[in-house]
Amino acid sequence: MTRVLFITSEVYPVIKTGGLADVSGSLPEALCQQGLDTQILLPGYPAAMETARTTGARREAQLSLGQYHLSLWRTRLPGTPVTLWLVDCPALFDRPGNPYQNDDGQDWWDNAHRYQLFCRVGAMMASGQVGLSWQPDIVHCNDWQSGLVPVFLDALPKRPGTVFTIHNLAYQGVFSWETFRALGLPDSLWRFDRLEFHGQLSFIKGGLVYADRLTTVSPSYAQEIQTPEFGYGLDGLLRYRSDHLTGILNGIDTRIWNPTEDPYLDFHYDFGQIENKTQCKARLQQQLGLERTGAPLFGFIGRLVEQKGIDWILAVLPGLLDRGCQIAILGSGEPRYADPLRALAHRHPGQLSLTLGYDEPLAHRITAGADLFLMPSRFEPCGLNQMYSLRYGTVPVVHAVGGLRDTVRDYDDAGAAKATGFCFRQPGPDGLWQAATRALAVYDNRRAWRRLQRNGMAIDHSWGRRAKEYQALYRAILRDRC
Ligand code: ADP
Repeated sequence: MTRVLFITSEVYPVIKTGGLADVSGSLPEALCQQGLDTQILLPGYPAAMETARTTGARREAQLSLGQYHLSLWRTRLPGTPVTLWLVDCPALFDRPGNPYQNDDGQDWWDNAHRYQLFCRVGAMMASGQVGLSWQPDIVHCNDWQSGLVPVFLDALPKRPGTVFTIHNLAYQGVFSWETFRALGLPDSLWRFDRLEFHGQLSFIKGGLVYADRLTTVSPSYAQEIQTPEFGYGLDGLLRYRSDHLTGILNGIDTRIWNPTEDPYLDFHYDFGQIENKTQCKARLQQQLGLERTGAPLFGFIGRLVEQKGIDWILAVLPGLLDRGCQIAILGSGEPRYADPLRALAHRHPGQLSLTLGYDEPLAHRITAGADLFLMPSRFEPCGLNQMYSLRYGTVPVVHAVGGLRDTVRDYDDAGAAKATGFCFRQPGPDGLWQAATRALAVYDNRRAWRRLQRNGMAIDHSWGRRAKEYQALYRAILRDRC
């Protein structure tokens, strides 16, 4: 049985800031269902150690690395049979709130130290240096926080195969030369074809240069990141490694995101009985203080950052409000987006609802209660919300990039029989406006709209097939290394 160590900096339901947590919370279990012994490694944040306490964890190893003393705890990812390992190092991980930032939204000053230690432990565990009986054949790293694992493993005579998955190339883990020195990394790594990136240390380059195989989370994004526009200075390296780079679409956890039994909903519905969705909408309107009308209701859930095209949403909102539409926004992020949204919501009570913060139940209720879902991201590696929306019969309006392009079929391009949503190619508010108004025109035709909803709900975005693609990739790595 192939053994996989899945190394991640967040995993649902223990700790989540974005899509990486959702993927980490569901792909390992899907891999286990394919017969792969997949175990997860996560830093011992307070929420993780709390999980350990409530699930009866066992301390399996203790070690000292430089000034740091740490323990490896073994438990289970709640609600699953998947083994979860925790790197318990209070000096680095016992901090409140977000894994990466303090309460003021600033990155923890010692993130490089924190994740270097995490990577060292991952590499030691993967190469049998911590005295565990379990050792992986494949180490699957995710995003910059685990980028140094393939680097540390590469220095060893005998090592497992390595995969590095790019969930978002915009986050690279870049630190100063002084930090490189302070981490005590060997001088030989300070080269442009290793970890050096324009005079700085890049964690993500560790994964991109040293992993046996690279993946990213949609086929379109795999192509896009090889261009200067989306490559953030790493497109040359990615073109160089293109033979080893594949795009595998993320799946969704269809137990957690399931309109027939979602515990956060008061009313349930499915493909054949979509009518109850109207009651979810009415309940959402009531909860958010929106007027109880049949006006089309747009939803948006996500981080309020440049990537997500919030400025484009802000530009089209007045027009949508003029047309009598309602909008429910849930997000947290930068004040430059939150402030104007707040001002607009203040001017349009009953029509525009803004909830700032992180709210899992409300995310489910918006996904179910909205008629349309806005996702005009400038770039989107995969995107999960559009897949959740499709499953909930909420028609997505998206920018045709990355995973959005790969998962939403445009009404005009695909035809009524196959379409699942509305896409725009031209970046900017005009493109978004045109797609939204096309959507509103179809919304007025109830039969056409129902068909669109049903087309989306019928698509299988579960992990099954996609986990098989990872399995094939792992096999190819093991074959190459024989
Ligand atoms: P990203 O990883 O870029 O943030 P994704 O679409 O891949 O975007 O995944 C985002 C995940 O985080 C989804 O599960 C989404 O519902 C959730 N999410 C984002 N913001 C919030 C919020 N404010 N409250 C609740 N859930 C949120």
